[in-house]
Amino acid sequence: MKFYSTKNKSLRVTLKDAVLQGLAVDGGLFVPETLPRLPADVIEALPAMSFREIAFTLAKPFADELPDSALQNIIDEALSFEAPLRPLGENLFVLELFHGPTLAFKDFGARFMARLMGWLRRHETKELVILVATSGDTGSAVASGFFNRPGFRVVLLYPSGMVSEIQEKQLTTIGGNVTAVEVQGTFDDCQRLVKQAFTDAQLRQTLTLSSANSINIARLIPQMFYYAAAWAQLNDVTARPVVSVPSGNLGNLTAGLWAQKSGIPIERFVAAMNANDVFFEYLQKGLYMPRKAVPTLSNAMDVGNPSNFFRILDLFDYNYARICDHIYGARFTDDETRQAIAEIWQKHAYLMDPHGAVGYLALDEFRRKESPARRPAIVLETAHPAKFKEVVEECSGQRVPVPERLQKALAGEKQAVVLSNRFDEFKQWLMG
Ligand SMILES: *Cc1c(COP(=O)(O)O)cnc(C)c1O
Repeated sequence: MKFYSTKNKSLRVTLKDAVLQGLAVDGGLFVPETLPRLPADVIEALPAMSFREIAFTLAKPFADELPDSALQNIIDEALSFEAPLRPLGENLFVLELFHGPTLAFKDFGARFMARLMGWLRRHETKELVILVATSGDTGSAVASGFFNRPGFRVVLLYPSGMVSEIQEKQLTTIGGNVTAVEVQGTFDDCQRLVKQAFTDAQLRQTLTLSSANSINIARLIPQMFYYAAAWAQLNDVTARPVVSVPSGNLGNLTAGLWAQKSGIPIERFVAAMNANDVFFEYLQKGLYMPRKAVPTLSNAMDVGNPSNFFRILDLFDYNYARICDHIYGARFTDDETRQAIAEIWQKHAYLMDPHGAVGYLALDEFRRKESPARRPAIVLETAHPAKFKEVVEECSGQRVPVPERLQKALAGEKQAVVLSNRFDEFKQWLMG
């Protein structure tokens, strides 16, 4: 399987180049040249398979550069947790994607990417330094994915005082080959420092740098697996569910659309958004107008210019009508999100985090407007409610149990290197 750039279909590269380059040289995003359709008998066999067997079945066509045993190892090690589908109400289900080490769905992508990169670089002797600017979830998932992987060192930059206490603990208590840098500045400063590092000739001569960021194809491939696993857990080969995806950078939605195109029977996607509604507006009017993100309760969805938008355009050959046929968009305010957290507790005795709550609202709207209630509907719960303990407790009136792996991080001692937002200082520290 080859991968091409969304900016140039004739630029085709191997999986290895797509993963190690991250972004194509022309600035485009890599996408698979074809999405091979799984035969009907394979689809029908999915309900009898384990999550890792499903993962292998879906990953195989993309990873034909790897021997089966290597791919199987990567999957077994990376996906050592489940994605259970829980019934919430009449034909309504939650797919829990927070059972990984950092309690967010980004663990699927980050852990798979780390192990795949490790295998692809298995003959390299020089250490790869991964630079990540983070405002929360991404940093801890990437760091945890690469934690003590031989051949990798991780440097996380986060804005001092601008991440939640839980997030800061998750970023600064990992240790090992992971260093957290607390930047006296904003998230934009962190991003600027990372970008500048990549263009600094002297740094690039001394160190091998990678960003391992969210647009890497290695993060999207494993996200296809749980769409297939969700369908399989319905345990009804005639089911064609509607799936609601809490959306920010649109990576999760893109992976779902790829799974659907590979033959997983999904009727329709619901793209759930908060006040950052650029993609909602596109679905309404056909106009794409990126803008600055505004902060909300569901902060991992605060994206004003979603990078995977161009992957979605490419998938549908830039055909607006076809995109609208596949995706229903909806957006909600923070007040509505708070009410939803309360309602989900009252109606279903389920504690949902703010991201999942936006997904729930969007699914509810879609079902009332468009879909017969008999069709199964699935909302993706992208983070554990304990990551947003305060607001969930306030809205539901319930105590949120904190999983042991989060308690451990909270009890750990913060360790961070404090730097100004000046590049020369960052560079000197990085080289020293
Ligand atoms: C990253 C994230 C999202 C948004 O996912 P995208 O793939 O960027 O659309 C939603 N919820 C949570 C908890 C996240 O961490």
